[in-house]
Amino acid sequence: AILVGRRVRSRRKWSRVVGVLKELEEACESSVGRLRQVVDAMAVEMHAGLASEGGSKLKMLLTFVDTLPNGSEKGTYYALDLGGTNFRVLRVQLGGQRSDIPKHDVKRQPIPQNLMTSTSRDLFDFIASSLQKFVESEGTSSELSPVRRRELGFTFSFPVKQTSVSSGILIKWTKAFAIEDMVGRDVADCLQQAMTNRGLDMRVAALVNDTVGTLALGHYHDVDTVAAVIIGTGTNACYLERTDAIIKCQGLLTTSGGMVVNMEWGNFWSSHLPRTSYDIDLDADSPNPNDQGFEKMISGMYLGDIVRRVILRMSQESDIFGPVSSNLSTRFIFKTPDMSKIHEDESPDLREVARIWKDILEIPDVPLKVRKLIVKVCDVVTRRAARLAAAGIVGILKKIGRDGSGGITGGRMRVSDSKMRRTVVAIEGSLYTSYSAFREYLNEAVDEILGEDIARHKAVKKKGWYPLRPGIQGFFITCDGGRE
Ligand code: BGC
Ligand code: MG
Repeated sequence: AILVGRRVRSRRKWSRVVGVLKELEEACESSVGRLRQVVDAMAVEMHAGLASEGGSKLKMLLTFVDTLPNGSEKGTYYALDLGGTNFRVLRVQLGGQRSDIPKHDVKRQPIPQNLMTSTSRDLFDFIASSLQKFVESEGTSSELSPVRRRELGFTFSFPVKQTSVSSGILIKWTKAFAIEDMVGRDVADCLQQAMTNRGLDMRVAALVNDTVGTLALGHYHDVDTVAAVIIGTGTNACYLERTDAIIKCQGLLTTSGGMVVNMEWGNFWSSHLPRTSYDIDLDADSPNPNDQGFEKMISGMYLGDIVRRVILRMSQESDIFGPVSSNLSTRFIFKTPDMSKIHEDESPDLREVARIWKDILEIPDVPLKVRKLIVKVCDVVTRRAARLAAAGIVGILKKIGRDGSGGITGGRMRVSDSKMRRTVVAIEGSLYTSYSAFREYLNEAVDEILGEDIARHKAVKKKGWYPLRPGIQGFFITCDGGRE
C-alpha cells in the first residue's frame, strides 16, 4: 500500500509538471494566423513611427546614411564595434573589387562586466586604450601613410538619435548596459575625447548602429540588399526607406532619394504577441521594465532566462529535479549558448543536457525523462522567438511592398518577369548563426508566412536563403515590386 501510494503521488507530481509544460505551449502559440497579425502590426507601427516623433514604440531613427557600399570601395579603414557582449577593433583593406573578400585584422574581447554599469569615462577609456594597443601593434607598415590621419567607423549597438552621419545622442541603454551619465550625451564626442586624452590621432568619421553595419556589408556583397536584421544578445533591424515616406522629417533631401532607418524593433509591442507569465516576471525583474518587449521574447540575452524560470516553476510544483537548487533562482545563470548545446544534444541519453545541468545548476543525475522535458522547454521558447523574428522580417517586406502580396499590380494576375524585383535581407547575430534550431525555425516561419501570400497572389517568382558570406546570411525574395 505504501509503494502504491508513493507511485500515485509521483505520477500526480509528473502530471503537474506536464501541466506547466502544456500551459507554456499554449501561451507561446505562434500559428501562421497569429504571426500574420504580428506582421501587420509591425507594418502599421513602422508607418506610425515614420509619421511623427513618438508616434510609435518603434522609434524609426534616421541614420543619415543615404548610400551604401557596392564593392568598388578601396582603401584602409578602421572600425570599432561595441556590441552587447563583445568589443572588436578591426582594420579592413578593401581592394576595389567585390570578389576580393576584404582583408581584416581583428582584435576581439569580451566587455568586462563591471564596465557595463560604471561611468562613460571608464568605458570609453577602455575602448580608447584597446584601440591604441591595436594601432601601436601595427608598427610602421609602409602601406599606411603616416601623415594621413586615421579615420574610424564606430559601430555602436544601442539606440542613438543621430545628429549627422558621425554624431548622435544616446537615447537609452539596452541589454546589460546601464551607464547613466551617458544617456543624452553624444557618443562620438565621448570616444573622441577619450582618444584625445590618450594622444591617439584618429577621427570618428561614422557612427552607426550595428544593423546599419550589417546592411552595408550585405549591400557590399549584393546590391539588392535593402534590409538587415540582427539577432544576438539584443535584436534590431534597419532598412532602406524612401525619404518621402519619412513624414516626420519633411523636406529631407538626399542624393539617392532614400535613407536607412534604424527601426529599434526590440521595443516593438503588440497585443498579438504571445506573452507568458514568465515574460511578465522577467520584464518586472529587469533594469528596464516595460521596455524592449519584443527583444525580451527573442534575443540571446533573455531566452536562457525564460527557460530557467519555467524549470524553476516546474521544480516548485514537483520534486522531479530533486530539492530546488538555489542556483535555479539565480537570474541569467542559464545562458542561451548552453540552451543551444542542450537543444543540439543528439546522444540517446542526452548526456550534454545532464552535464550542463550538473555544471551550472549543480543538479546531478537528472533522469532521462526530465532531460527530455528540459529539451522540450528550450524548444518551445526558441521556436516562439524565431517565429516572432520571422514575422518581424515579413513585416518589413510588407511595409516596403516586397512581400509578394502584389500591391497595386498584384491581385490574381501573374506579373510579367520584367516587373519582378529581387529583394535581399541580410541577417547576422549569434542566435541566427550559431543556434541551428533557431535558424531553422526562423527560415521555416518566413517560408510559411510568405507561402500563403505566394499561393494567393502568385506574385512571387523565387525565394530562398543563401550565404552572403560566412557569418552573414541573406534571405531573398523575387516578386512583383509592389506599389513603387
Ligand atoms: C539595441 C539596438 C541593437 C540591437 C542588436 C538592441 O538592444 O537597442 O540598437 O541594434 O540590440 O545589437
Ligand atoms: Mg554585434
